[in-house]
Amino acid sequence: WAEIDLDNLEYNIKKIKELSHGKEIMAIIKADAYGMGAVSIAKELCDLNVNIFGVSSLEEGIELRNHNIKKEILILAGSFNEELEMAKCYNLQVTITDISQIKYIIEHKIEISVHIKVDTGMGRVGFTIDEAKNALKICRDNNITVVGLYSHLSVSDESDLDSIEYTKNQISKFKKLEELEDIKYIHILNSGGILNFSNIGYTNMVRAGILMYGVYGEGLINSLKRVFTLKSKVLFLKELKEDIDISYGRVGKGCKGDIIATVAVGYADGYRRELSNIGTLTIHGHKCKIVGKVCMDMVMVKVPKEIETKVQVGDEVVVMGEDIYEISQMIHSSVYELFTGLSRRVSRVYIKNGKPHIVNNLIGKI
Ligand SMILES: *Cc1c(COP(=O)(O)O)cnc(C)c1O
Repeated sequence: WAEIDLDNLEYNIKKIKELSHGKEIMAIIKADAYGMGAVSIAKELCDLNVNIFGVSSLEEGIELRNHNIKKEILILAGSFNEELEMAKCYNLQVTITDISQIKYIIEHKIEISVHIKVDTGMGRVGFTIDEAKNALKICRDNNITVVGLYSHLSVSDESDLDSIEYTKNQISKFKKLEELEDIKYIHILNSGGILNFSNIGYTNMVRAGILMYGVYGEGLINSLKRVFTLKSKVLFLKELKEDIDISYGRVGKGCKGDIIATVAVGYADGYRRELSNIGTLTIHGHKCKIVGKVCMDMVMVKVPKEIETKVQVGDEVVVMGEDIYEISQMIHSSVYELFTGLSRRVSRVYIKNGKPHIVNNLIGKI
């Protein structure tokens, strides 16, 4: 199960407000709020200092509306023309990345609020600066409500000089757009940007994603609190009576006398198979090394000497906790990928006031 600490989330939102010098906050809760559960996280954030939510698709926006989330919602990733009418029906704001979308909105008289997306160096979607000026003009001339103007940073969380220079360049390009008094939200800072470039002025909102959980592209952040822990339990214990091979493929070698614990977590939960034979799980505060391949639903670890007499079936195991960044590095991945890879069958246990508050699992909400 995933423990999601809403007390720490609340703390982090307050800190993010400080870190971004009071700018408005768009909470990015795409991809099921990075695996934390978009509806639960949105409900929690509605009462906090968050103005607007960012999602990545029409369906993600509709899911929030279906659960009675009333705040502003922006679809970030760009929309297809045939989705615009539906987005409007659900009162979702859309990202405009191409002039053909504006023409479609005019032609079909769709009364939708839009954010104009500018590509300042991400190289993904959006207008060039000059195109954006033109797009803004066309929107204004045709009474399309432009609520936002934004861009996205590609290396804001990297600390080498070249990356810092690149980000500064992206920001100064973005600042070339002028006379924006009629636009409610001007935004470019993502998590890395909030941490490293929050004094840029010009913008009035930040887009906080992974930072809400106390992490960013380069690890945990001391001034924030960790929200997420993946836990499980010891399912089975044995003392090896002889040397044996462990798990699929026989790459794990067990020696006579080893105490091996089988833990109920596997790659179908989002615990990555690349961790076979190299990862560690934590039991009673001790690191226990994985022996053999991670299976779909189970993994075997060697119980270290210090806790050999202590470990019992049913004991709690920390699968990914404060070591999540190291785990991501070990497999050349990122915390983003580990979060979003958590599967549906992992129960989400929300902690509030220090106690389990809601449990959301396959058989419902408790
Ligand atoms: C995902 C996303 C974010 C959030 O990124 P973090 O690094 O998690 O803060 C911000 N803006 C856009 C456009 C995104 O797609």
